[in-house]
Amino acid sequence: CGIVGYVGPKPAIEIVSEGLRRLEYRGYDSAGVALVDAETLSVEKRAGKLANLTAAVDERGGMTDPRTGIGHTRWATHGAPTDRNAHPHVSADGRTAIIHNGIIENFAQLRTELESAGIEFASDTDSETVVHLLSAQLAEGRDLSEAMRRVCRRLEGAFTLLAVNADHPGTVVGARRNSPLVAGIGEGEYFLASDVAAFIAHTREAVELGQDQVVTIDASGITITDFDGVAMAGKPFNVDWDA
Ligand code: GLU
Repeated sequence: CGIVGYVGPKPAIEIVSEGLRRLEYRGYDSAGVALVDAETLSVEKRAGKLANLTAAVDERGGMTDPRTGIGHTRWATHGAPTDRNAHPHVSADGRTAIIHNGIIENFAQLRTELESAGIEFASDTDSETVVHLLSAQLAEGRDLSEAMRRVCRRLEGAFTLLAVNADHPGTVVGARRNSPLVAGIGEGEYFLASDVAAFIAHTREAVELGQDQVVTIDASGITITDFDGVAMAGKPFNVDWDA
């Protein structure tokens, strides 16, 4: 339902939590975050209100160290609104996490294929297929952006996706088809979100992603390609409404 990602100098949990609060108006049944610090991935997710997630994060000391993070509010389409079905979904090796808006139409076929290869699923969602496909691409030595492009070529349906990986600290990769994704350009910090409302407090400079594009944010800025890796230019715009 709502998606936000951050790379920059500030505690990612603060930016991501605030972004999720600003997306609350869309409605949701669960919420979660994935944060990358040095080479460690940390995930918290809870069914119910954002306050449940915040309480879980506080119990872990606030999780204020990581400077890279993604956050999700879920509106369940496949699988009940429970803690285990909340996003992010994590790969079997615990190194990769994804969040997803929309519906992966061919998830049943993908799930059967992954289960035949020995993958055990931890949720009932359509979304979880994406993280296992991504993890397999990464295991073959591809970087996170190329892994995402290859996975997207296999997906049918509607998706906004964000992914982080413990071996790519300082990077968030996003993708979209039939579902919105915008990037925000701050001073030495970059945002990805399903809606500019998520980062409006930090920057007015935004870039709209086109259909079937992959975007990478890291210290060097924003890089956009199509699903085949061809460089693309996003559509820059200024957010001119009040925060
Ligand atoms: N289809 C996914 C699920 O049910 C994502 C739903 C959403 O857009 O929040 O988990």
